This record gives sequence, C-alpha cells and structure tokens, in this order.
Amino acid sequence: MDSLKMLLLKESQQHHLSLQDASLETWHDLLSRVVQKKISTNRIAKDTYATQLFYFSMEFLPGRFLRNNLDHLGWLDQAKSFLSTYEIDLHDVLNTENDPALGNGGLGRLASCFLDSMANKKLRGHGMGLLYEYGLFKQEFLSGRQIELPDRWKQSSSYEWEQKPDAEYTVSFWGKVHQHNNGDRLVFEYTDQEQVQAKLYSIPITGYSQEQVNQLYLWKACPTEIDPSLTAEQQLLKRKKATEITEFLYPDDSTSEGMILRLKQQYFLVSAGAQHLFTLAHRHGGIRTFFNHYLVHINDTHPSMIIPELMRLFMDVEGLGWDEAWAIVTTSVHYTNHTLLAEAMEKWPIVLFQPLLPRIYEIIVEINERFCRSVWHHHSEKRDKISDMAIVSYGHVHMVHLAVIGSNKVNGVSTLHSHLLQTETLVNFAQMNPKKFTSVTNGITHRFWLHRVNPALSDLINEAIGDTWLQDPFELIKLADFQTSTPFLEELSKIKKRNKQTLIDTTLTFSETKVDPGSLFDVHCKRLHGYKRQLLNALHIWHLYTELRENPDRLPFPRTFLFAAKAAPGYAFAKKVIHYIHTIASVINKDATIQGKLKVIFIENYRISLAEQLIPAAEVSEQISLAGKEASGTGNMKLMMNGALTIGTRDGATIEMAEHAGEDNMFLFGANAADTKKPYFSKSYYDKDIRIKNVLQPLVNGTFSDNAIYSDLYYSLIQNNDEYRLLQDFSSYAQAHKQIELLYTDQLLWQKKSLANIAASGYFSSDRAIEDYQARVWTSI
Ligand SMILES: *Cc1c(COP(=O)(O)O)cnc(C)c1O
Repeated sequence: MDSLKMLLLKESQQHHLSLQDASLETWHDLLSRVVQKKISTNRIAKDTYATQLFYFSMEFLPGRFLRNNLDHLGWLDQAKSFLSTYEIDLHDVLNTENDPALGNGGLGRLASCFLDSMANKKLRGHGMGLLYEYGLFKQEFLSGRQIELPDRWKQSSSYEWEQKPDAEYTVSFWGKVHQHNNGDRLVFEYTDQEQVQAKLYSIPITGYSQEQVNQLYLWKACPTEIDPSLTAEQQLLKRKKATEITEFLYPDDSTSEGMILRLKQQYFLVSAGAQHLFTLAHRHGGIRTFFNHYLVHINDTHPSMIIPELMRLFMDVEGLGWDEAWAIVTTSVHYTNHTLLAEAMEKWPIVLFQPLLPRIYEIIVEINERFCRSVWHHHSEKRDKISDMAIVSYGHVHMVHLAVIGSNKVNGVSTLHSHLLQTETLVNFAQMNPKKFTSVTNGITHRFWLHRVNPALSDLINEAIGDTWLQDPFELIKLADFQTSTPFLEELSKIKKRNKQTLIDTTLTFSETKVDPGSLFDVHCKRLHGYKRQLLNALHIWHLYTELRENPDRLPFPRTFLFAAKAAPGYAFAKKVIHYIHTIASVINKDATIQGKLKVIFIENYRISLAEQLIPAAEVSEQISLAGKEASGTGNMKLMMNGALTIGTRDGATIEMAEHAGEDNMFLFGANAADTKKPYFSKSYYDKDIRIKNVLQPLVNGTFSDNAIYSDLYYSLIQNNDEYRLLQDFSSYAQAHKQIELLYTDQLLWQKKSLANIAASGYFSSDRAIEDYQARVWTSI
C-alpha cells in the first residue's frame, strides 16, 4: 500500500508542482486530490438491491472536508509530519478551506450529522440537496451593524465536487398542461414551458471504517441547450433564469419574485431528485419493485413537493393508476417536522403556485380532494375540521398538510416537540391516524463534535475508558466513575483552560477587548431569533453591569459573555438586537470602574469552523428559548458534550438533557411550556420589578444615544406585550446566573458537574438518533 507521502509525490509530479515553494492553497489542493482518489478506490461494489435512503434537504452544513477525510483515512499524522519537512503546518493548510455555505443553521447541520452517523453505521443513506453558488451570506459588522456579503465559498481552495456526467435531467416551470385520451391511457402534453437543466454533483461521505462510502448529492441549475433562434439578449436571460435557481440559499422572499424563486428552488430539488430515483429504478428491476428498496426522507416541508412529483412521474410518465402510485408514494416517503412557530409553517398563495407548477398543482388538488372526501366518509367526527386540515384552503397551498398526508411516518425532534405536534399543531391528523406519528430526539455526531473539535478531551477520555465510545457513544457513561477522582477533574479543568486560551489566541485576536483566560466563558451561539432570546441574555448582562458599577467585588472572578449569531437579512428586530449587544459591549468593555470583571464580545460570521473553536472553550451554555418554541436544539448537545453547564429553560431536548445528566447538574429556570399558555401582561413585570425597569429605561432615555434607536426593542417588550416573554423569566434567569457564580467558586464541584454532563451525553449522539429512525421510521432499512 502506498503511503500518503508516495501518493503526494506522485500527484505533484503529475501536475508538475514544485513542493518546495507550494502555497498553502496548493498543498490543500494536492492533499484533497490524493484523499479523493483514495476514497474513490476504497468504494466497494455493493449489492444494489440493498435498501437505500435518500435524505432530501434544502440545507447541509458539512463543515470543512479535508481534515475529516484525512482523519477517516488514518492519515492525519502522516500528513502532519510530511508537511513539516517543508516547514508547512498542516493546520494552516486546513484553515485555507472555506466552510461549504450550503446551509443556515441547525436544520442543515442535523442533516450532515445524520450523514456521518449513517456512514459509520454502514447504512446506505445519501444526502440530496442543492449546490448553492453563494450560500446564505458572510456576516461582517460595521459600527455594530450586520453587513451581508456574498459568501464566495467555492472560490479559492475548496474541495473538488465530482460531476456525474450520466445524471442530467430537465426541470420544467410555467406553461400549459394538455391532456387527452390515447386508447386506455391519459397522455399529458405541456406547452410554453421554461426549462432548466439539472446537473448532479457529489461528494463522498465516509465513516471511520471506510466500509461504507455514501454520497452527498447536490444539484446545480444550468441553461438547457442553446437555441440558435434566440437573440444574444434572450440567451443571456435564459442563462440567468436557470443559474439563479442555485445561486443563493433562501433568496429574499419578501417580494413575489423572491417567493417564485424560492418555490422554483424547492421544485428543482425534488424534480431532479425524483427523476434520478426513477433512473435508478429502471436500472435495477423496474419501478414497481424499486420503492420496496428505496426510502425518501424529507427534512422539514421544503422538499414536500416530492410527493406530487413522484405521483406525476408514476402516472404521467410510467402510466400507473392513481391508487397504485399513491400506495407506493405513501409507503416510501417520511417527514420530519422541525418547528411549531406559526410563521414558519410553509404556505404558498395559489395565485403564485398554480401558474408556476400547473401539473403539480393539479395533482395536489386531487390529493386534497381525495383526502377531504375520505375524512368526510371515514372520520365523520372531524367533518367540521376539514377546512383546517386541507392542503388547499383559504387561497393557499399548505405544505405541512401535504407532507403529513403524503407521508408514511411523521416525527417531531424531541419528546416535548412531538407531544405538542400531536396534541396541538397537528392534533386532528394525529387523532385520525395516531400510528403515523412518532418522535425521534435529534442528535449530533460525537465523532465530530467531541473527538474532532476537542482532541485533548478525546485523548483524556481514551485514556480513561478506551476508545470504543467512538463507535458506541453510550460508553461515555463510564466516565461517571471518575467524578470522585480529583486528578481526573483537574485534568478536565486544564483542558478547558487550554481551549479557552486557544480561542483567545486564534478567534478573539480580532477584538480590541482583552479577554482574561481565567474568566468564566459564557457562550450564546445560534441563529439570532426572537424566540431564542439573545435579548434576554443581553438585558441581564446590562443588569449585571449596573450591579458591578455599584460594587465590583460583588463578583469574585471575571465573566466573559460571548455571542455568535447571524440574523436573517430581512429580520429588522434581530438586527437591532445585534446592534444593542455591540453597544452595551462597547460601554462595558471600556469601563475601568468595574475592574475588568465583565467583558462582552460578539464574534462575527457564525459557522461550523467557528463553532469548532468556540464550543470546546465554553463553560456555560445559554439555551434560553421561550419554553415550547425550540423544537429540539442541537447546539445545546454540542456544548454539553464539551463539558459546558447549561443555563436553560425546560424546552426541546434540553428537558431530556436534564433527564440524562440530572437537574442538579444544570441551571434550569423559567416558565415551562404549559405556563406559557396562561395569560401574560409584560407591563405588570415591568411595574413590579425595579431591576427590569432599570434595564429597559436606557433603551428609551438617551443612555446610549440621543435619538431613540432602541425604542423598537422597548416597544416590543412593553406596548407589544413581549411575544417571547422575556420579562416573565427575567427574575428566575438572574437567579440562575447567581447560582452559576456561586458554583464557579468551587472549581472541583464545577468540574464534577461538567463531567456528569459529558458522561450523560452519549444519548445525544446522532448514532442513537439514527437507530431510533431505523426502529420507528425506516423500518425496512
Ligand atoms: C449546531 C449549529 C446550529 C444550531 O444551533 P442551535 O443552538 O440548536 O440553534 C446552528 N449553526 C451552526 C453553525 C451549528 O453548528
């Protein structure tokens, strides 16, 4: 077997590269090529009839590839030492790789964690998504405000995406549908359509064993063949109309053009994906048996048009009747719901949907009519609920209803979330068909989020309990035996200190603010959203600051609050919160009277490679969503696994974290989901708690600036009755922070609780989540 060194030398000769003066980028390209060749030769021919799963998702967040693959091939050490002979640090080479900007937050990262776990469990499961040219946006701050720049992640030394030349399909929009009888069969013809070409790219997903190489399949939109009758201008327009489909993730959908583009993206993904499945079907035994062996999973409702698209292909192209096609589709497709937020329930105006996708709309109408009829006949107790359950109603196409009606199984992503789905949001569906609904609590791959991002901790664990936990995360529970070992706890503490120092030396060098590595690192990293309540954290920091101004000795040690979050470009409130946090940071960080007891830092451009740095350095994890709003959360799990103690509400998977780690190893506070159903008047909290008054007054009284720049935040909390109930939980949140401060002075006890969290985190591995999917959802795989 060739060593990595031999392969690198061979590759560089082939491309006439001189290693002596190769740039970091050149080294990256070289290593990537060698790694990819190796992985593709490792691919073993598999029984093509073994069941396969296609995980359809508008987002994936795989993080940088090269380091992962070097690790999986067992080549990390070889690479490090070979490069060092050229005085090149492998670290610097790996850092030249941009994060693939193919996702936005937890939903996309979940998809990537699942791909990792499926490869490691030797399950045939592939991702199906879009190859965005620019992704969401690159975040920068200018005078404390978020600036959105195009994320040109594909340029400069990124990983090579392999194109599959034999997989190209045409996807059609607009036009007219004509149907006529041809003997015993209905034939469909389309005219005046806009067509684009879907080209398939893929990247291999490997596990440690190398025995299973899965694929992340991504589609890119291109113009169809040039029509010579078009003028140059028309050709340019045609090109733009095609390529814009996979240009950005979530194009602005505040205008109807934006909405049409978003809808096009969704249909483009499912149509190309479904056509590809049919190609595989014809290759392997025909379409009738194909779906005995193939499963489709939709990650949230965005790909739910896979249901009518599969119906279209079965009926219009393959000539199956409705009943046979419907039976196949509703056996093969499964759906995960990710949110209960009313504004995130996808629905499209019919006036927009029907012209863009006329045949899909016809099929949806037919699905809807058959569904409504069957409720009328077979569930007479639900007759008065039919319009609430319909797919097409009140002028809209309701994607959640389409996904539920067309799927075999529907799951929520934590016990609480699944319960709320079945008893509130989708209660009528669940009462009619309780067996369709199940729950799978989310998980994260511990190989990435512990072993990869925190190598020192991974080594300590290996020394203590061996390395079987890498394949069986439940083994981590053995660490609980070390809770009474002072040397072990001290080692744990040292590792955390080093991780904090590393964060200061690398990521925090941008900041003018000096951070004390001995301060308590409190981390709030996730998308910026009202329900995630970054504003509650910020208001409490201001409260803490006013206390310290009166008495800096109130805190025996310094505290550092770290934020990282992107706000959606059209979300004015979230952007204002970012600005507010910057403003209080600039006041607090330069106030000498508090003797450096408090620092606040907002790190820009939250993404996987930043999370890798931030999470191992965190000591407190902020999981403070309004109870009932965070479906699961996965950031909470990553931080727990790295030994941070959670300050959190009883929401999503945080509840289950407390069940596994013990409530006394966390800081739970605030209203629970049932409490949030009770009447609420934010002003009464304002009136009766002087601390609340004192933190809210500066938003409007000119403390930060003469013009009332934060009056909209104040308005949302008082006049608008504080939709996310920050004021209700303020007091218990402050109380929980006091408990944190008390405990931190007893370092040994702190480390003991930290270890209890790490030991209990095995349940939150995506390996367990994938096992649950196999047991409850994908029962044939
Ligand atoms: C895990 C992760 C998230 C999700 O965080 P939550 O706290 O669950 O909202 C978002 N973005 C990135 C980059 C992540 O790694």
